[in-house]
Amino acid sequence: MHIERHKNHRIGWLRAAVLGANDGIVSTASLILGVAEAGAISMAAGEYLSVCSQADTEQADLERERLELAGYPKHEHEEMTAIYVGRGLNEALAAEVARQLMSHDALGAHSRDELGITDTSAARPELAACS
Ligand SMILES: [Zn+2]
Repeated sequence: MHIERHKNHRIGWLRAAVLGANDGIVSTASLILGVAEAGAISMAAGEYLSVCSQADTEQADLERERLELAGYPKHEHEEMTAIYVGRGLNEALAAEVARQLMSHDALGAHSRDELGITDTSAARPELAACS
């Protein structure tokens, strides 16, 4: 006697098991990715705003420095001289270094040596948010 063993009577629970597993994996993964993405976007927005405020402060400092250089060049030269004396140069050399640097790029010299703002340290909100 020939006996055929078909398994199609199991199709109902097999389909439900595959669908359920797939649903569970995709739903859970989507939820986790969504939460992680929301966290990353929130952190990027916070970083962007905080670095924007740093950039605003730096711009305000540079504008103040620009006005001081225009209005009080002698005082600004003395200020630079004092900075270089503080770094170890003698008074005459410090005054000459300050004179030469200020004649080349006064605002650049003051922003770098007085305010500590350089091209590499300047605030960049977009870069900070992306990273
Ligand atoms: Zn200055």
